[in-house]
Amino acid sequence: MTFRVTVSRPVPDAALALLREAGLEVLGPGPSEGMAEADWTDRLARSEGLLCWLSDRVDAARLAQAPCLRVVANYAVGVDNIDREAAGVRGIWVTNTPDVLTEATADLTLGLILACARRLVEADRFVREGRFAGWRSDLLLGTELAGKTLGLLGAGRIGSAVARRAAAFGMKILYNANSPKSDLERTCGAQRVAFPPLLSRSDVLSIHCPLSSETRGLIARAELHRMKRTSILVNTARGAVVREADLVEALRDGTIAAAGLDVFESEPALSPGLCALPNAVLAPHIGSATVETRDRMAVLAARNVIAVSRGEEPANAVVRGAVSPPPR
Ligand code: NAP
Repeated sequence: MTFRVTVSRPVPDAALALLREAGLEVLGPGPSEGMAEADWTDRLARSEGLLCWLSDRVDAARLAQAPCLRVVANYAVGVDNIDREAAGVRGIWVTNTPDVLTEATADLTLGLILACARRLVEADRFVREGRFAGWRSDLLLGTELAGKTLGLLGAGRIGSAVARRAAAFGMKILYNANSPKSDLERTCGAQRVAFPPLLSRSDVLSIHCPLSSETRGLIARAELHRMKRTSILVNTARGAVVREADLVEALRDGTIAAAGLDVFESEPALSPGLCALPNAVLAPHIGSATVETRDRMAVLAARNVIAVSRGEEPANAVVRGAVSPPPR
């Protein structure tokens, strides 16, 4: 029996080649702007596997359209777009792509921190607008990172990689996570603190926790008011961890100094007023967007599908499904 996999949208060729070499039938990829509902329904109804983007909502209703589905392989490490409980109940594996995107996302985080601290986007605009009239002692003054405190909300793979980079810039590291991180404490001198001191003591607060019912809206008006007026908020995790309307207000009235955002609460839509703020540096969810990383992510997602097709356990399971014998 053929194992069919719906590929929801374009992915690097290497992944499609791998799926086909393994003897799987690939349905798709669908268009990058999103598949028509009828196509989804038709393909999923015939598929044992789904390889999807983080912007595809795979909820209980979608899973119910897929009676033979055995694996949902997300082309991302975050899996907040998938109803994992519904998948688990139906014995469907859910997999993600950890590790391979850690360094790229940490690089972008540092880029946003530096862009905010040194007002790089404002500076670029200033030059392009023909306003540069020569060196001035008071032109576009920023803040330096050495000696400042980086607070990590979430200190897993990406948070730790950001900490290593920030420590090399001379920053002190605080973190808040569910469990202590002895490696991070040993290698970067990081200190675990509760959430309130993380807010009040950080010069840069960088978000690296997953989006969950616990973390949705975790940074809202009250939390922003606990932060230093000189502080920078950076979010390369998921937009809905921050209440964006409250952030716009805080950036506008000087509650905090600046924000660097790669992710947005209702992306691709932006909260009113965000684009007009000179102290916000905005990126279109490109944390893992390097050629090398996207190839590795796609290959990992494909390998997870192939493992399930062979009746093996996939390497990156976030929900355990049923291990069935390979189809004959
Ligand atoms: P990870 O290794 O699982 O790390 C997540 C960290 O968050 C862990 O330290 C965890 O604590 C902590 N955490 C969970 N719930 C928390 C809470 N309520 N309060 C404080 N900390 C909490 O994940 P990762 O690989 O670093 O990825 C992190 C997130 O980044 C992903 O979920 C994804 O949404 C996002 N991401 C975005 C991009 C992008 O393109 N912008 C790219 C990759 C990833 P414990 O370790 O103690 O459990």
